[in-house]
Amino acid sequence: GWLPLLHLLLLLPMPLAQLLPAQPSVEVAPFYAALGLAAAAWHLLGQPGPAYAWPSTDCQLSITIDLALCSLLTLLAVHLKGRSPARTSIAALALPLLSPAAVLALHLATEHAPAYHAELVTRLQRAVAARLRGASAQASTRACVAPPPRWSNLGLFDTSDVSYDKACAALARFLADSAGLCADDRVLACGCGAGDELYLYKAEYGLRHVTGFDADPAAAAGFTQDLNMRLLHRPAATLRGAFQPGIFNRVLALDAVCHFNDKRAFFADAVALLPPGGTVGVTDVVVAADAPGWLRLVLLVMNIPACNHWSPTRYEAELTALGLEGVTIVSTGARVLPYWLPGAMLPYLDYASVVARVPLAAATAPLPPPRRRVAVIGSGLAGLTTAHTLVSSGLVDVTVFESRAKAGLGGDAQRFGEGDDDEAVVDVPLRMIGRGYYSAVENLAKELGIPTVAASIDCAFYGVDLRGAARLFVLSRSYVAMAITILRNLPEILHFRTSLGKGEKDKETFGEWLRRCGHGSGSDSDPVGLWVTMGQMSWVLSCTYEQVLGYPANIVNDFARGLGLGLRGMLTSNRIVRIHPSVEALQVALSYGATLTYGVRVGGIDERRDILGTQYDAVVVATEALAVPHVLAKAAPVFAQVPYQASSIVLHHDESFMPARRADWRTLNVERQPTSDMSQLTVWLNQYYPGVPFARPTFETWNPLRPPEHAQKQVYFQRAVHTADTPRVLAAIEAEQGKDGIYYAGAYCVYGMGLLEQAAVSGAAAARRVLKDLDLTAPDVHTAGTKNGAQERRRQLNGAHAAADTATLDASPNGTNHSPRGRSVLVGHGHGADQPHGDVVADKKRAHNGNRNGAHNGLAAVNLQQ
Ligand SMILES: Cc1cc2nc3c(=O)[nH]c(=O)nc-3n(C[C@H](O)[C@H](O)[C@H](O)COP(=O)(O)OP(=O)(O)OC[C@H]3O[C@@H](n4cnc5c(N)ncnc54)[C@H](O)[C@@H]3O)c2cc1C
Repeated sequence: GWLPLLHLLLLLPMPLAQLLPAQPSVEVAPFYAALGLAAAAWHLLGQPGPAYAWPSTDCQLSITIDLALCSLLTLLAVHLKGRSPARTSIAALALPLLSPAAVLALHLATEHAPAYHAELVTRLQRAVAARLRGASAQASTRACVAPPPRWSNLGLFDTSDVSYDKACAALARFLADSAGLCADDRVLACGCGAGDELYLYKAEYGLRHVTGFDADPAAAAGFTQDLNMRLLHRPAATLRGAFQPGIFNRVLALDAVCHFNDKRAFFADAVALLPPGGTVGVTDVVVAADAPGWLRLVLLVMNIPACNHWSPTRYEAELTALGLEGVTIVSTGARVLPYWLPGAMLPYLDYASVVARVPLAAATAPLPPPRRRVAVIGSGLAGLTTAHTLVSSGLVDVTVFESRAKAGLGGDAQRFGEGDDDEAVVDVPLRMIGRGYYSAVENLAKELGIPTVAASIDCAFYGVDLRGAARLFVLSRSYVAMAITILRNLPEILHFRTSLGKGEKDKETFGEWLRRCGHGSGSDSDPVGLWVTMGQMSWVLSCTYEQVLGYPANIVNDFARGLGLGLRGMLTSNRIVRIHPSVEALQVALSYGATLTYGVRVGGIDERRDILGTQYDAVVVATEALAVPHVLAKAAPVFAQVPYQASSIVLHHDESFMPARRADWRTLNVERQPTSDMSQLTVWLNQYYPGVPFARPTFETWNPLRPPEHAQKQVYFQRAVHTADTPRVLAAIEAEQGKDGIYYAGAYCVYGMGLLEQAAVSGAAAARRVLKDLDLTAPDVHTAGTKNGAQERRRQLNGAHAAADTATLDASPNGTNHSPRGRSVLVGHGHGADQPHGDVVADKKRAHNGNRNGAHNGLAAVNLQQ
């Protein structure tokens, strides 16, 4: 909101001054020019430190340029003033308006005005709710819930002395009862605020499966997500495409639908989501057909758009036109509205529950096909993306097996301030996502309503080269200093850019490409650009310099091109994002609907695809390649041929890992020493997670050159390394896909950097392949439109019902209870609550011995404080 305001402040004084009958004694023009120049200087020369946050985005940079531009133009205006006041004021007015930031501000203001209005009304509602809550003596209405209630609906007041929270809960019950909610229902609660109604539906109606969403990101962040009850962040603008049809049989909106952009679109989307017999239910303001204009205006101010002013007759007509039947409107306005509205409005308004049903399928509908079962081995991003894609199809039952006691994707995250209000989670490893290269991961997050936030990234490179000379190259936070650094190294930067434009030869390695383009040999005595590049690529790829040089050149260069690692990449720092609040959010959302079986190291699967006594129609092996020979009784030799490199990560407080001068500390600090064949990355977590209240400087070091002091946690990894042989290896893996109903997914299976992006791409591809080979097609709009589309869709939706049934997770503390339909979950089987000590020690040794092709052990973690 500050952007348009800033521009108003900048632009208003000049014309105002011209309008004043008596000119002020202080010259406004030089005054504002000085102010603008001072502001621009302050931003451009600002010193590094926690308070220094901008300019870091394109928009903020543009504002800074604008400040300087406005100042210069105002000076020009002063100059002109002596000659012609009219020309002066035109120059002062018009020219700044043409500046880029002013255009941007105007655009933002028009684009965001409705959103600001909606947000203002929501905040107002919340503030009123908080006030009422404070006033009520006994607030709690829940039998089952830990967090305190944060209801904010209109409430149903049976008596005038009922507390606000109780009234809100009563309104939620009124809707649930009107919709006939029961334990077997799978509910989608739209615009559910902080999620209080989800707790209530679960506690009082015994629901096992409930998903809510709200436009406020804080709602999802503050909610205790679990596998059967989740709250997503997504704009309420449309439901279409957000969820797979057939997963929910009730779509509810408690006191929210009147604020949606278009109520009709909401009901149409609900019809598309619901299976035959499913119901949609809302509580809503109903407006009399003869309501006067002034009342409609008041409703507009209350953020109820004109297209949502429906009378009971219109309600019935609209819902019937959408194909819904049994429209029931139950009025309860007298128990809701008098509490809030003046008497003059009451004759024209009512408040009611509206419930309608999607017609039942024709009796002749074909029987659903038998349910298929798919096992996914491994719960890294590849395994979870496979599971999510399969579950979303609504066509198969999915069981995920993981050898560790926690998920592979976010299981190693570290909690800070546990139990406190400001508890925070730090990802280990950090799970950085670069815009421009990670489209699959970004799309997944978007689809699931998981927010990403820009991570503030800048770098320092330091250490000693092979000649024993100390090196230091710091990307400055000051744009002036940065410009000087870039100018000093401009020939080298331009040389790299030109080389990237030239492309790569067939089968060329990165080392060969560097030499061909005249960038040096990749040793420590090379020019600064190469020294920095090798340091950077060594940690990005988690491998040695030699392995970096052996990478296929187009893999590394496509990554650089995707992220814009040229001049632009050095200037802008907002291309790296992270999942908010931590990758655990993505992990929970991806796991939804699958049966999770942690603590089971699967092994010896043969062509019968039998795991723990259950036969699966397909198995997706989403482990590391080096684990495949252990997972399968007879694995193709190619999996053992994928080279791996061991890495480790330590969480610690040892400041000696940072550059010697504190002023040179950056978010990413890359150290190279002649004693090691890999670079060491130390991430300054206080900068990377500005919102986390770390008690002292805290670091995450990847591949430490020596053991840090004050270590908090150490984790070991194996990561696949690509070589010139990769195309042959990938072709061999491709040839194995689907043989005996066994498929492979993992970052190593896809041509690329072996990052999360490749894991997501391979997981989705494996799932699609499984569905195709099992002769199942995910329901989509095209199917519904074809000749037999309606029948086909109904068949699939009926199947989806059963899928959601089986998704229920009965956490049994005593271990396995694996029914033939994979209905329940197995906890703590095999390798119990934490990785057995022997594994950790073994992995530790391998990591330190630099076991390049190491034997299987995957990941292991040990908390050094325990
Ligand atoms: C130090 C380091 C930092 C990284 N940082 C980033 C980053 O910031 N951004 C990024 O994009 N990428 C990063 N990566 C790469 C990223 O971690 C990998 O690309 C990604 O984890 C690969 O996912 P995956 O699902 O293919 O495999 P994995 O994540 O390795 O998952 C495989 C899973 O299979 C399980 N498993 C193995 N054997 C069995 C068995 N027999 N039975 C059951 N389960 C089994 C394992 O326990 C594991 O959970 C980093 C890698 C390392 C090493």
